[in-house]
Amino acid sequence: MNPYTVLRLVCGTADAAALAERLSAWHDAMVAHERRRLTMPSANSCDDECPHAEARVLWAEARRVFGARADELQFLRSRATATLPSARRQAIA
Ligand SMILES: [Zn+2]
Repeated sequence: MNPYTVLRLVCGTADAAALAERLSAWHDAMVAHERRRLTMPSANSCDDECPHAEARVLWAEARRVFGARADELQFLRSRATATLPSARRQAIA
């Protein structure tokens, strides 16, 4: 059972169920995205649509919906709080 499912069951709310589903989809997209960046870095730079950008939004939502238990989502937290990839960082600065 993945950690998103665990939190969904613990919380038991409709919000938690909807968020857990989005997080599972995001997780798969993020794993695929990171794999592509490792194998073809030049062809897969980050932009506004990539899962790195979405991580921050989802992390904020996870903290709202799951409360302190959001800290259990270490994969999400590490991607949401890590320094953004260079292209995106420069776009914000
Ligand atoms: Zn990215």
